[in-house]
Amino acid sequence: PQTQDADSSIRLTDTDAALARLSAVQKRYLEDPFIKHLVPRAHLQPARPPLINIGTFVRATAIDDLVFQWLKSAADHGTRCQIVSLGAGSDTRFWRIATGVHKDALAAYIELDFPEITSKKAMAIRKSKDLSAVLGDPSQVAVAHGGTGLRSPTYHLLPADLRLPPQDTLDKLLAPILSPTLPTLLLFECVLVYMSPAASTALFQWFIDYFSPEGGGALGSIVYEMFRLQDSFGRVMVENLKARHVSLPGAEPYPDVKSLPGRFLNLGFTAASALTLKEIRKSYVSREELERISHLELVDEVEELDLVLEHYAITWGLFVPTSAVAGKWVE
Ligand code: SAM
Repeated sequence: PQTQDADSSIRLTDTDAALARLSAVQKRYLEDPFIKHLVPRAHLQPARPPLINIGTFVRATAIDDLVFQWLKSAADHGTRCQIVSLGAGSDTRFWRIATGVHKDALAAYIELDFPEITSKKAMAIRKSKDLSAVLGDPSQVAVAHGGTGLRSPTYHLLPADLRLPPQDTLDKLLAPILSPTLPTLLLFECVLVYMSPAASTALFQWFIDYFSPEGGGALGSIVYEMFRLQDSFGRVMVENLKARHVSLPGAEPYPDVKSLPGRFLNLGFTAASALTLKEIRKSYVSREELERISHLELVDEVEELDLVLEHYAITWGLFVPTSAVAGKWVE
């Protein structure tokens, strides 16, 4: 049936994301000792073009920085925090945090994706000593949800179709794990664009309700997404995805960078900001880093770089702004 085809095309975008990350690591744009364990035959995968490597570098550096600030803010205030990654795919962020300076600030790290993706990830984690060692005491690590999930003291991998009514899925999956009183960061890295705005809103609303009013945990969120798909370059991006049977129902309402914080503000978030990857590369990546990556490989398509980077943006927002822990994060 058509929807099943469409869903498997959406799931394939995780392979793209993982191969892009692997390539950026192999070319030394990024450091990540874990990604190779999540990509089958990693040593045989061809490198991506320089343009993609630079885009992956800018995106990863910016999101890492926001997540780092979130963890640091919790650590500085002597509290722990939770991170929920929706549509996490083959992301390695949990392993990088759990082996990093702020590992003690992490109370729970939860990943959700389609069961086909989480089953593969659960298997890859169990097969890799490097990945499973980070989960902690093996006697407390268990396969869950009939092989489609994984449970450990901090890390949880859960199967869910995020388009379904969250009351039918998240109530059961998250309520036993997620504390409503700890500051919690929701990550949506290249995922909401594949869902209708109504489904995204329902998802956010579920989390907002979970943390308020008496829960009291501050809620932060980061969304990374392609956007501005109405202009000529944007239309080419959409056509390329269409050729692979991927449609983008979530891309419609946000035509420019100014409109992006509306995603959060319309839901009652108190503060939100957005930057394109082009702006981030120009004004936020350090000169040393830009200098370092400029020596990694020859870039033929320099004019195209800004064109690509201005079609991707990171938007972040904060709910429950009175929280002492997270109040300054949006700035
Ligand atoms: N967040 C990861 C990253 O940035 O590396 C993966 C991004 S990949 C482009 C999109 C991910 O979202 C895929 O793993 C896909 O399976 C997941 N996804 C998309 N729609 C979903 C849905 N309705 N329910 C669960 N997962 C979904």
